[in-house]
Amino acid sequence: MIVMKFGGSSMGDGERVRNVAVIVGSFAEREGTPAVVVSAMQGVTDALIRAAETASRRDNGTLHRTIAELYARHEEVAAEVAPEPERGKLLAEVHALIRDFENLCSAIGVLGELTPRGLDAVASFGERLSARLLAAALRREGYTARALEATSLIVTDSRHGTASPMWEHTRKRTRAEVLPLIAEGTIPVITGFIGATPEGVVTTLGRGGSDFSASIVASSLDADEIWIWTDVDGVMTADPRIVPEARTLPELSYAEAAELSYFGARVIHPKTVLPAVERGIPIRIKNTFNPEGPSTLITSSHREGASTVKAITAIKALSMITVEGRGMIGVPGIAAKVFSAVAHEGISVLMISQSSSEQNICFAIRSEESARAIAALNQAFAPELAARNVDRIWAEEGVAIVAAVGKGMRRTPGIAAKLFGALGKAGINVISIAQGSSEHNISLVVSDEQVEDAVRAIHREFDLGRAG
Ligand code: ADP
Ligand code: ASP
Ligand code: MG
Repeated sequence: MIVMKFGGSSMGDGERVRNVAVIVGSFAEREGTPAVVVSAMQGVTDALIRAAETASRRDNGTLHRTIAELYARHEEVAAEVAPEPERGKLLAEVHALIRDFENLCSAIGVLGELTPRGLDAVASFGERLSARLLAAALRREGYTARALEATSLIVTDSRHGTASPMWEHTRKRTRAEVLPLIAEGTIPVITGFIGATPEGVVTTLGRGGSDFSASIVASSLDADEIWIWTDVDGVMTADPRIVPEARTLPELSYAEAAELSYFGARVIHPKTVLPAVERGIPIRIKNTFNPEGPSTLITSSHREGASTVKAITAIKALSMITVEGRGMIGVPGIAAKVFSAVAHEGISVLMISQSSSEQNICFAIRSEESARAIAALNQAFAPELAARNVDRIWAEEGVAIVAAVGKGMRRTPGIAAKLFGALGKAGINVISIAQGSSEHNISLVVSDEQVEDAVRAIHREFDLGRAG
């Protein structure tokens, strides 16, 4: 059995939702009933979060505009995809959900506060709407289909915003609810991105997390493959929006796919790979707008290509935090103190950079966490700052990580030289070089303004656009 996931990019409007229904339906006819996981329509999760934030600031004008847009968009799609006899019922369901969302926003406005738990409740509406729309679109095409809320399938811990599944519970519930539907030929359309605690409180798995949902469902059902349908021809040598000549990578190992996604290839969420590895489930990445076109197959064993560098990725909107001081030289435990202060705040460090002296420690984190990191470090190092052992703790905003990813790269001599040569020629200033633990990548820090030029320069230097 196959688990298919359709991202927001495949669910932009009514016509696209119908296109998804045609893809799923014709597959079901040929190969048997798949389980489907679906994201919110494109841009909807962002709109929901924005609406809740404006509600917490009591900015009612903006809130009402956003809610009106949500109604308009979902009503339009519902009217377009629903088969005639159930159009009224579907519209009523859409209205009821958006009304619940409005009520939630009113409560947030009264409290004047948006908690992580509230934010997850808010963000869950996009998938709850889209799953109903896609199930209706499938029925219009003549298939039996039912929308299922993952809140009754995926049981998670209560880390709102980045919840993790409780595997045994999840497996049991998913099998109990989904397998009977598949057996009777009903296509289950499951909400991506969301889950619930054992007490039933809604959680989310992280932004872009519907890919992870698909892999959780696939693992629970012992699926044969996971197909992730998106808006590009699989995983490519770079983001095709940045590098137009980027090419599809026909095969990748799980390790390479994990590395690529960790370093910014949004086409697959970083958490997707692990559950698939554990059960040996291959992942295919396919294009909804070009279903017969090139695609990527991710497995444990793949033919070793000649190239060492396979793809170039980038993560933008980061901050480089530096803890600096001549008095730090030779003092044991400084690094441990830096990273425990940051970890204590729940901030994840994307890379640590190496300096030749011991006078500073630098690391990159997401910009939105920079103020909290600086505050935590100032507090942790108050005695050292007073004693002048640490001179300065500061953030350089607006930086990005560029990573060249590929198996065995770091053991191959000359790659780093070629990479820096390419950046030098393109006039790109390298702010720092990362110290990565894996053999699979070399990463460096450049300014946000230069990151796209850096990706293009490296892609060109390694000739990644050539066929082969
Ligand atoms: P979905 O809504 O289907 O989840 P996303 O927008 O999350 O889609 O991911 C698909 C996008 O990922 C593509 O449109 C592309 O711009 C981007 N992307 C970034 N890096 C890569 C890469 N190496 N290969 C393919 N796509 C990439
Ligand atoms: N809709 C969610 C998001 O926008 C999950 C996803 O698209 O994968 O983050
Ligand atoms: Mg995505």
